Parts: sequence; structure tokens; C-alpha cells
Amino acid sequence: MSTQLTPDKAGGSFLQPEIETLPQEQIRELQLARLKEAAARVYPKVPFYRKSFDELGVKPEDIQSLEDVAKLPTTTKPDLRENYPFDMFAVPFEQIERVQSTSGTTGAPTTVAYTHEDVQFWGECTGRGLAMAGVKPGEILQNSYGYGLFTGGPGLDYGAVRLGCIVIPMSGGNTDRQIRMMMDLKPVALSCTPSYALHLAEVFRDRGIGPDEISLRVGIHGAEPWTNEMRAQVEAGLGETALDIYGLTEMGGPGVSIECLAQGGMHINEDHYYAEILDPVTLQPLPDGELGEIAFTTLRRQAQPLIRYRTRDLCTIIREPCACGRTFARMSKPIGRSDDMLIIRGVNVFPSQIEEVLVSIPQIEPHYQIVVDRVNYLDVIEVWVEVGEAIFAETMGDLERFQKMVQSKLYGVLNIKVDVKLKEPKSIRRSEGKAVRVIDKRK
Ligand code: ADP
Ligand code: ZN
Repeated sequence: MSTQLTPDKAGGSFLQPEIETLPQEQIRELQLARLKEAAARVYPKVPFYRKSFDELGVKPEDIQSLEDVAKLPTTTKPDLRENYPFDMFAVPFEQIERVQSTSGTTGAPTTVAYTHEDVQFWGECTGRGLAMAGVKPGEILQNSYGYGLFTGGPGLDYGAVRLGCIVIPMSGGNTDRQIRMMMDLKPVALSCTPSYALHLAEVFRDRGIGPDEISLRVGIHGAEPWTNEMRAQVEAGLGETALDIYGLTEMGGPGVSIECLAQGGMHINEDHYYAEILDPVTLQPLPDGELGEIAFTTLRRQAQPLIRYRTRDLCTIIREPCACGRTFARMSKPIGRSDDMLIIRGVNVFPSQIEEVLVSIPQIEPHYQIVVDRVNYLDVIEVWVEVGEAIFAETMGDLERFQKMVQSKLYGVLNIKVDVKLKEPKSIRRSEGKAVRVIDKRK
């Protein structure tokens, strides 16, 4: 397929300008029509939804406006686990083309199924993202997201096919080979988790290859939370503009929302997904701009449509127009999942708060580990930080002063005492996919 791209106003392109710049009013009309279809599709075909609609006394015909979505039941990960592996399917097996699985970050993995059309929709969403990032047909993408059950690799791959760019299906790991490919084939774009991007940057630095010798122009990094401080490190290390991409297996994978070159939040593919921000306690929808749990309804998926799926990811929805000219609403960087929130002696702590502090201290490498334990009935939190060669060579007294400084900076933000442990250069495990930042020994 030869793809004609239209430039957007931020330096990237529209893959489908007629959809991506649709006035919000028309987006909402389209969403309402598709929401009605989605409700009408699941009710007769998925016993779980028939039961949960009936329990609330709601029928698909009750959806007359987008606000009526609040009448519908929500869906949670435990619901998917209970109906694993086949009971959420809304089409006969003959129509299913493939399945993928979650990474199991928070427990037993769950699967998701796709029809042929679902796979096309997926490629459309990630293809828009690659175009948004300024990648053009004929240019090379090094796709270093894991291929296999994980949705990252295939998700970006289908996008590259849709856009018509050249894909190197690297998958995760084998860093030597990744670097080799990058030096030989000179890709303009790299897709991988932000933690792996940092690792690649570190290996380049160790080999004396500067950011200006790396061919990358843009990176598409997501699948795990990362701060803007981390973004700056990735950009400096790889000499690229780093963009965020969000998705979850339950929604089909990456490409639910993607950042444009204006770097002001991720555009939600609103023709495919209806997003709501819910109060995590009352489950009431919150107004735009307020922080809450983002829930999605799939508007087009056929094999395994989901209604109001509670992601547990905390973020806000931004509806102000974006500099790129896209009309799709944006979501802010999720600060983490509500289940990532650590409660330390009653104080709520998000790993992202710790990351912001650490990454802003130049002597520290952007690799860290948070260890939580309970000692004599009291929660204790340790943060392992890796220091650079220069500081590690200093005297004990200097190191101690440095450690106290980091500790007091963390105290300033978190208001709890954190034990900072300085670790030798390269001693903290590098991630090839999603980084495991927190070890909670209390569980
Ligand atoms: P698992 O739930 O087992 O990790 P997934 O691989 O489907 O399975 O992961 C989806 C989750 O990854 C999202 O719900 C979210 O918590 C996280 N995630 C994905 N993309 C981003 C991103 N760009 N920023 C922050 N978190 C993200
Ligand atoms: Zn934009």
C-alpha cells in the first residue's frame, strides 16, 4: 500500500487527516454511534456482559448519549481472569486470527483475542503514531519491543506495515546485536521501553559513540511509566526526540494513545476508544483535567470488546487544542497504576516521585531500585541508586555527604525517611523490556 502523508503542524504527519482532525463534536457523534454498536454487540454474545448489564437493569438501547455510558457496568482485571481463556470472546473461533497476552506485571497474565479486522485497526492506531513521530515510508524503524506474546513488538510492527516504513524486527535483548544493527542500517526511529532506551544509550556511551553519531531522529517509548526527567536523559543519550506511547493488552496493545512531536501528552485514538476518567473510589466519571483512573471502552474491536475497562492507570484528560492540529483529546503521562502506589507508614508514595528526584541529580545514573520491607511492624523503604564512576572514586566522607544530600531531597518531596543506598556503577540490573523498579517484601 503506498501511503500519502499530510504534514501536521508539529513536524510529523497525519496518516488519516480526515479522521485525526475531525472536529470534537463529530468525534463525539461517531463515538456515540460506535458505543451503541459495542453495547449491542456484547450484550447478546458475552454472558459476562449480559449478566452485568442485567444486574444493573440496563439494556444496550438505554445508551442515548455519551453520558449514558455511566449506566454501563465497568470491567476489571479479575473479571477477565474469571472468564479466562475464552469466555469474553464475542465472535466464533473461526473468526479469530491471533491471541496475545499481558506481561503479568500485577499477577496472572490474561489473554486477548483479535479478528483480522482487529489487527488492521491495531496497525492503523500504531501507524498513526509512527506518522505523528515524523517517520516516512522508506525510512527505517528499529523495533526493539519484545515480539511474541507481548503486544509491544507486533503492535509497532503492524503500524510500520500500515505506514509503509521499513521495520527491523529486533525484539528486546541482545544489546550487542541491537547496536550493530543501528550502526549498520542507520534507522531513524527506535521503538522500545524507556528503560531499555536508557540502557542502549549507556552502552553507546561506554563504546565512545556520541549521540551525534547515532542516526536516530525519534524514539517511541512506552509500556511503562517514565517521567519527563527520564525523557530528557533518553533524548540526550540517543540524540533523538523521545515520544510516549501508551496501551494495554486488554485494549489490543500499544497505540491506544500516542504523543505527537508537540510532546504535550498522548493523543487518544478516540475513533477506536472511548476514554473516561473515573474517581477510583466512587467510580463516578470526573470532569476533564481532574486526576483519576482512566477507563476505556473499545469502540470497534470485534473478538474481545470491553466496556469501561478499568486500567488502574492514573492520569488526566486534556481537551485543549494541540499545536500539531490533531483534534483527538490527549491523556497525560500516567503517574503509575493505582496498584503501584506504595503506602509507607500511611504516606502515599509513587515510584515516579522518587524517579523525578533521582534523575534530576547529575551524579546519579538513571537506574534505581526501590525496596520496601516491614521491620518490627514498621514499613521501611530503601532506594538503591547507582552513582557514576567519578563520585564512586571519592572519599568515604564525600560519599556519605552525597548520600545524605540525596536522602534529604527525597525527604523534601515524599515527607518520609528513605534509606538511600549508593551502589557501584553498573550494579543495578538493566531491563530489556519493562523495568521492575519496586521490590515490595511486605507482600
Ligand atoms: P501488564 O498489565 O501485565 O503489565 P500490559 O503489557 O498490557 O500488561 O501493560 C499495560 C500497562 O502498562 C498499562 O496499564 C500501564 O500501566 C502500563 N503502561 C503502558 N504504556 C505506558 C506509558 N506510556 N506510560 C505509563 N505506563 C504505561
Ligand atoms: Zn498533538
